[in-house]
Amino acid sequence: MGFRPFIYRLAAKYGLSGFVCNLSTGVLVEAEGSPESLEIFRDMIRTKCPPMARVFEFSVEETAVTGRTGFDIQSSLSGRGASTLISPDIAVCEECLSELFDRSDRRYRYPFINCTNCGPRYTIVDAIPYDRANTSMKHFELCVDCRREFEDPGDRRFHAQPNACPECGPSVELFDASGRRVVERDAAIEESIHLLKEGRILALRSLGGFHLAVDAKNDTAVRELRRRKGREEKPLALMAPTLEKIRKFCYLTPEEEWQLRLPTRAIILLQRIPEEEIAPSVAPGNRSLGFMLPSTPLHYLLLLDHFEALVLTSGNHSEEPIVTSNADAMARLGKIADYFLVHNREIQQRCDDSILRVVEHRPRLIRRARGFVPAPVLLKVPTTKQILACGGELKNAVALSRAEEVFLSQHIGDLDNPLAMDFFGETISHLSNVLEIEPEVIACDMHPEYLGTKWAQEQAGLPLIPVQHHHAHLAAVLAENQVEEPAIGIILDGTGYGLDGTIWGGEVLLGNCHSVTRHAWLRPFPLPGGAAAIRQPWRAALSVLNTSYEGDFLRLQLPLFEALSTDMIDIVLDMISKDINAPLTSSCGRLFDSVASILGIRSEVTYEAQAAVELEMSADESEEGLYRESLKGFCPRGELDWTSMVVQIVSDINKEVEVSRISARFHRTLAEMFVVSAISAREHHEIRSVGLSGGVFQNRYFLTHLSRRLEEEGFVVLTHSKVPTNDGGLALGQVAVAAAQLRSVS
Ligand code: ZN
Ligand code: ZN
Ligand code: FE
Repeated sequence: MGFRPFIYRLAAKYGLSGFVCNLSTGVLVEAEGSPESLEIFRDMIRTKCPPMARVFEFSVEETAVTGRTGFDIQSSLSGRGASTLISPDIAVCEECLSELFDRSDRRYRYPFINCTNCGPRYTIVDAIPYDRANTSMKHFELCVDCRREFEDPGDRRFHAQPNACPECGPSVELFDASGRRVVERDAAIEESIHLLKEGRILALRSLGGFHLAVDAKNDTAVRELRRRKGREEKPLALMAPTLEKIRKFCYLTPEEEWQLRLPTRAIILLQRIPEEEIAPSVAPGNRSLGFMLPSTPLHYLLLLDHFEALVLTSGNHSEEPIVTSNADAMARLGKIADYFLVHNREIQQRCDDSILRVVEHRPRLIRRARGFVPAPVLLKVPTTKQILACGGELKNAVALSRAEEVFLSQHIGDLDNPLAMDFFGETISHLSNVLEIEPEVIACDMHPEYLGTKWAQEQAGLPLIPVQHHHAHLAAVLAENQVEEPAIGIILDGTGYGLDGTIWGGEVLLGNCHSVTRHAWLRPFPLPGGAAAIRQPWRAALSVLNTSYEGDFLRLQLPLFEALSTDMIDIVLDMISKDINAPLTSSCGRLFDSVASILGIRSEVTYEAQAAVELEMSADESEEGLYRESLKGFCPRGELDWTSMVVQIVSDINKEVEVSRISARFHRTLAEMFVVSAISAREHHEIRSVGLSGGVFQNRYFLTHLSRRLEEEGFVVLTHSKVPTNDGGLALGQVAVAAAQLRSVS
């Protein structure tokens, strides 16, 4: 990220001699000069470092005076040991952008313009140190002009590894779906704009993989994209050329504006302005839109002055990993895209777009990938061994540790897919390679059927540390907040293998990374059909009603029953009573699904957690009521009984209370149950911190309300901001638990 050139310029400014170079252990600077200027130099390194650079550790040693003159940037010395950090990819900077649209500049409209402050990094690297020879730019020899910039310490492109121009660098080409080359270079961009305006679907090679693009205002085109991609209702991401355009479609807070502008260029979930002109099928029935600003010069060339917004969704078939190579794109996206705008700068590391939402003034990652990876998360206490953590089954990401640094991989996806499993293996070998980490211990989930766990068991010779799913969630939120002391963990998610072999997911835990006890949990209920119940929330809803009314619920008047045949109901009730494929669960996610289904919001979903998402969106946040009666005589330890709350909900439905108010009352009552439980835990154990983790906390309303209530009760509330609260952050927790176990053994 332009660190060495920064040091060079600083040394020149203060008249110092010496050198700077990348070591595999970090950056080494040797500087010689007057004591006063050396002191200023030392302070400036820390206070004036480039915007994307972070100094994690800094040490100074005295060395003999050599009397040398001049200051050099030396080429990297490769070696074993810990490695220099590789930067995440950085969106095109302001200076490059103004050159891009400057007719007199030699890179006018050149889609691969970059400098030391911006451009591709992680996605083009295949080995360390980060030098051109170890990136996909090695195939492009610098022309005379580019080399001059690369070697001139005063130039903005001094040692910019991906430096390129139209003479010597990569270029774009446009192909049709039959593989015929239509046109190349600038004409390919012009033609792509034209095709998008006509409503065509364009496969576009971006930074970390392919995108599929259509005009976001053309509903027919968006629906066609959904049909071909096999994506029914899950919202599609959007890209707009400027902040002003996004403001036309969404309400923006200052924090959201800040997040949009950052060089990480994540997709930010924003509250949409009703009646705007985005095609309805972009995010059907959703109150939010996911917007990002362009991250590459190519995006700017396509969008600026041409589109208010493009749909820009991952180039893949439903849940497969995104496509990165041109050949793969033609093969796998040939039935989806009409045209392919490709280039010849190879993508070494697949990296999806990151997704986040701002809640309580802080970014909350939903998917952590491009722009964030491979920046480490720092532990308070270094790990004694290098640990590989395999993560969960869904939304998988793996992690590798090296002393106090934990490198969480980019989002890999759901492992129940052979291509995702390949990506899982590739990511582990790539990250261990570029970080020079040789795992000595493997941490994995306790679930015997998880593919990551099975993979871990096959790695011969390495000790295995299985970690209970919700313990890992608690450890993740403690580790991210650098807390070592025991805390109360309110861990709410969809599915996790429990210590008793049942499915957990509504847990109040007590402990830290070393160990936990289960203080309380949502009253378990049978989940008829197991995994099928995730796609069909009505199954869990029948079970929840059955538990709440002790079997006597079919006399009720509920909108849910209208959609179900008597046969379907009978089969499910049979499964419950005969205990056939109806595992017990304390899953909070399934409780949300059930309530959504009972309220008639949704009984079948087309993407994970859709029912819960719609239940959240339906909540009237001005509602102040809750089901107080169901908290009378409520036992805050052991089984947290929600059945009387369900009876109250049904009674509200029958009284024709608005769904928005019932939804809010449900959120608030459930939050209160956990508050009461946390208070009871504090009475017995004198713990003041509460960590919140698990996929349920992607629910903005629930997270906000529960955090505020806990703070009102005097708790210190720890939440996620650096890693996802869903299973995407699980591997960090697995590392933390394994590290704690290793410490207690040694
Ligand atoms: Zn730049
Ligand atoms: Zn050049
Ligand atoms: Fe989980």
